[in-house]
Amino acid sequence: MFEVPKKRLELQLKDSKPLYTKGEALAEASRCLYCHDAPCVPACPTEIDIPTFIRKISTGNVKGAAKTILDSNILGYSCARVCPVEVLCAGACVYNDWERPPIQIGKLQRYATEWLIDSGDLRLYQKKPPTGKKIALVGGGPASLACAAHLTLEGHSCTIFERNEVPGGLNSTGVAPYKLHAEEALKEVQFVLSLGIELKTKVDIGKDIPSAKLLKEYDAVFLGLGLGEDTRLGIPGEEIPGVVGATAMIRRLKLDPTFAVEGVRDAVVIGGGNTAIDAARELAQLGVSNVTMVYRKTRHEMSGYVHEWDDAKLDGVRLIESAIPQRIVSHQEALAVELNNGMTIATRWVIVAIGQSKAHKVAEQFSGVRCDSRGCIVVNENGETGNPKVFSGGDCANGGKEVVNAVAEGKRAAIAIHSKLMNS
Ligand SMILES: Cc1cc2nc3c(=O)[nH]c(=O)nc-3n(C[C@H](O)[C@H](O)[C@H](O)COP(=O)(O)OP(=O)(O)OC[C@H]3O[C@@H](n4cnc5c(N)ncnc54)[C@H](O)[C@@H]3O)c2cc1C
Ligand code: SF4
Repeated sequence: MFEVPKKRLELQLKDSKPLYTKGEALAEASRCLYCHDAPCVPACPTEIDIPTFIRKISTGNVKGAAKTILDSNILGYSCARVCPVEVLCAGACVYNDWERPPIQIGKLQRYATEWLIDSGDLRLYQKKPPTGKKIALVGGGPASLACAAHLTLEGHSCTIFERNEVPGGLNSTGVAPYKLHAEEALKEVQFVLSLGIELKTKVDIGKDIPSAKLLKEYDAVFLGLGLGEDTRLGIPGEEIPGVVGATAMIRRLKLDPTFAVEGVRDAVVIGGGNTAIDAARELAQLGVSNVTMVYRKTRHEMSGYVHEWDDAKLDGVRLIESAIPQRIVSHQEALAVELNNGMTIATRWVIVAIGQSKAHKVAEQFSGVRCDSRGCIVVNENGETGNPKVFSGGDCANGGKEVVNAVAEGKRAAIAIHSKLMNS
């Protein structure tokens, strides 16, 4: 089992959508109409057979429900907790058209998958006989885990290389703690690895092992690199202590036992996307009393989900719209952020959440792999790159979407890799 420090700030943030009791799950499942052409199914990027798993819950077959979910989405446990269901499956539920609450698909999915993982009875799948083919997967996040799971069940030998100490990608290091704690993400990783996948942590491909070696030693390579460092503002004062990137701050909050917010009353979060909203909500929930988001356009142009912003307002987060930071200056213990509208905000911390760099430097070490002008790996609909041995999916190829997209793209690449290896 993977170890994470016991005293971490993220543990102070409690589950925002707690696990259903059996009675609640049965009551919610019984609301489902089991539509014939259920619109929720194509609205899920992994196309889980939602009516079937909900019917299984309603008949008391919880293990069967979990298997239906995992057959389509091997990371169904974390997806149940982190998917923005409002804009995916539940957003497509026919109940919305009648202005009634949609079926709580995420919560039912969590009920079934959590029951399975906690039962410890994980023998759901039988691997096919060994094919003798070896696949290397770079990165231990959702995309690689999903890809490796499908390939392993086809009988291929899969090795995941992860540069961090803990696997799981942003499920372990980035997702808001009120959705998923690191040890819960790692519990799922353990389940996926138990299918028979080898994991090597603290191995940075491109530094510790050159790309050419992987290409030589493996029959196929999957790049599930995710995104890179937080993007910088490029304004004076950004180097002052107290100015940090959002994903770097969230990572510390989730995993670093030395990270503390005691005595911090003010924080400014720059950006209007989901990462900015997450960072702001996490700080507000941890007791930072004045959390202000600064966004360069209007509230209606923010890329963060409306439902997430509504929750941020309930947490007490304020927004200054149509404002661009020009300079950050330091005044003894405090910082001052000067905005282009003439305002200056005094604060202790500045969290920069304006995006993440792309992983193109690692990707381009693999001959034939190309990146587009945004730095995303160029792939076709099967996840194939310009090198016939190299496939990719997840954030490094789509530019940054959701966990469920990374899973869908990892699975899609696995189908293409399997077909190529079996026909070669
Ligand atoms: C703050 C934040 C909150 C989010 N919240 C949500 C949410 O609530 N719901 C949701 O659905 N999505 C959320 N997302 C998005 C989601 O986390 C990503 O879409 C998903 O994790 C992408 O999976 P991935 O496998 O492509 O990349 P990642 O999860 O980033 O995994 C990539 C892995 O590759 C490793 N790696 C990179 N380069 C190398 C190398 N050279 N050698 C070895 N290993 C390497 C990295 O260390 C990392 O572990 C969030 C993202 C962020 C930043
Ligand atoms: S994986 Fe996500 S989008 Fe798909 S059915 Fe489950 S909760 Fe909905």
